[in-house]
Amino acid sequence: MTILEGKIALVTGASRGIGRAIAIELGKGHAAVAINYLKNREAAEATAQEVEAAGGRAAVFGADVSVQAEAKALVQQAVERFGGLDVLVNNAGVNSDRTVRRMSAEEWGYVVRTNLDSVFYCANAALPHLMSRGGGRIVNIASVLGQMGNVGQVNYSASKGGVIAFTKGLALEVAHYNILVNAVCPGYIETDMMAGLAPQFREGLLARIPLGRFGTPEEVARLVRFLVAEGDYITGQQFNVNGGMYM
Ligand code: NAP
Repeated sequence: MTILEGKIALVTGASRGIGRAIAIELGKGHAAVAINYLKNREAAEATAQEVEAAGGRAAVFGADVSVQAEAKALVQQAVERFGGLDVLVNNAGVNSDRTVRRMSAEEWGYVVRTNLDSVFYCANAALPHLMSRGGGRIVNIASVLGQMGNVGQVNYSASKGGVIAFTKGLALEVAHYNILVNAVCPGYIETDMMAGLAPQFREGLLARIPLGRFGTPEEVARLVRFLVAEGDYITGQQFNVNGGMYM
């Protein structure tokens, strides 16, 4: 499968978890993939090796995408390294859980800046490059919690609901440039983000998932690959990969 040969992609937060799986999946299609990380350079290098082993090209770039200047520099570096940009996958994300009554403004701001502001910063920097290539794809990784909300995760849910609304608005703005913008809404996926969940909480969650299991990063990544490589008439949509948890 060389369906992405000649395409250049930037995946934010690709050192671990879902972003790592997306980078590798795009590598399987022979894309050139710019792999962003915040702290874990070694893990990002390992992702790069896997992208290359899959047939793609890879380079790693450290940047905090919640800071506009760093997001802008990240996009610029990726463009300079590979000679352009066709695909932006806004995947980097964090949580910092507490009920609203007890939540500090720092906990609110950290999550909203990382999950939502970053999507604006990266898209804002990437759009001129996508336009100069005659079109492109943006895939934003939102969440089932941006659709249904959750106790103790209102900052996270609000940020992801914002990502879904951002996706629809931007899709309208840039459709005439042949830039397609979609959101992917994972349910509960086995990554480091879920590692801290107490066993009884995990059991409670499983009981609410019709397929009876958590998802894998690869199951999210395959949908992203489809949207990037084949979703020629799809824009402004939100796609659920949640085992039936929310319909
Ligand atoms: P993860 O395993 O915790 O990985 C998070 C990734 O984001 C890491 O690569 C991390 O880099 C990077 N990152 C964090 N803050 C960053 C920043 N400010 N700038 C640049 N990179 C940053 O998370 P995940 O579970 O794969 O989640 C990926 C996305 O899917 C997130 O947007 C998350 O909200 C969403 N999602 C996850 C689930 C789930 O159940 N796992 C469900 C729905 C949605 P370092 O390694 O350098 O720290």
